[in-house]
Amino acid sequence: MKVRCWGARGSVPVSGPEYERYGGDTACIEIRSKNDAILVIDAGTGIRRLGCSLMAQGRLDLTLLFTHTHWDHVLGLPFFKLLYNPKAHIDLYGSPGLQGDIAKLLGRVISPPLFPVPFAEMPARIEGRQWQGEALYVDSLKITRIALAHPNLGAGYRVEEDGRSFVFLTDNELSQHHRGGRSFAEYTAFSIGADLLVHDAEYTPEEYPSRRGWGHSHYQDVARLARAAGVAKLGLFHHNQERSDAGVDEIVARCREELAGPGRVPECLALTQYSEFDF
Ligand SMILES: [Zn+2]
Ligand SMILES: [Zn+2]
Repeated sequence: MKVRCWGARGSVPVSGPEYERYGGDTACIEIRSKNDAILVIDAGTGIRRLGCSLMAQGRLDLTLLFTHTHWDHVLGLPFFKLLYNPKAHIDLYGSPGLQGDIAKLLGRVISPPLFPVPFAEMPARIEGRQWQGEALYVDSLKITRIALAHPNLGAGYRVEEDGRSFVFLTDNELSQHHRGGRSFAEYTAFSIGADLLVHDAEYTPEEYPSRRGWGHSHYQDVARLARAAGVAKLGLFHHNQERSDAGVDEIVARCREELAGPGRVPECLALTQYSEFDF
């Protein structure tokens, strides 16, 4: 499978020379199966550039999942060009039981007077789907999910194909209990042996105490999870809006020190809005 990141910033999009390398667009991940089927997770502002790319490739068919509906994960959707193309077809999944009906939720913010075109009147064929059973299949991709430890809940995803696996846990606070959230042991089991774990690492341990309960993790906890789960590669995600490129570099360096030790050491990097993985 191929995984491409279109936005790695958390909370709010940013711009400026200090954010050039990691980028200012918010959460959006594209996954392609070996047969080139398209799965997209989250519609942060990064989905605008994804839409331009898909239009240029003539690709109008995809499945869209959401981790949750906080602003930074839905903000780009009104500017996703496929929505305005009557030939486009989108299978839309939310997190039923976690956050209610996704089309209704999106319709509340994508509607006048907040936005001129109501979500229900978008020209694309958007089909609200229900997640049935344990796993969802998109072509050869098998997708399972876990509840996030985050205010207002949400879902994290594990995507598998031919024995390879990608785990996406953003907006997940590992050392604080949130209603409906899971334990560190359960997130470890969910991430076990992943080829790539992408996890929220918004804070440093020094910043964390005054932000406890906000639903995000510091890199020490994330390193602990990556080691416990024995992942091959760890990608840090949901970069704080105040974090410059140099600041993200420093978090990566400190996280690598944290990961060092006996046994298999996960490779560590921070996602940029241009990151691509093929495994
Ligand atoms: Zn977020
Ligand atoms: Zn959130």
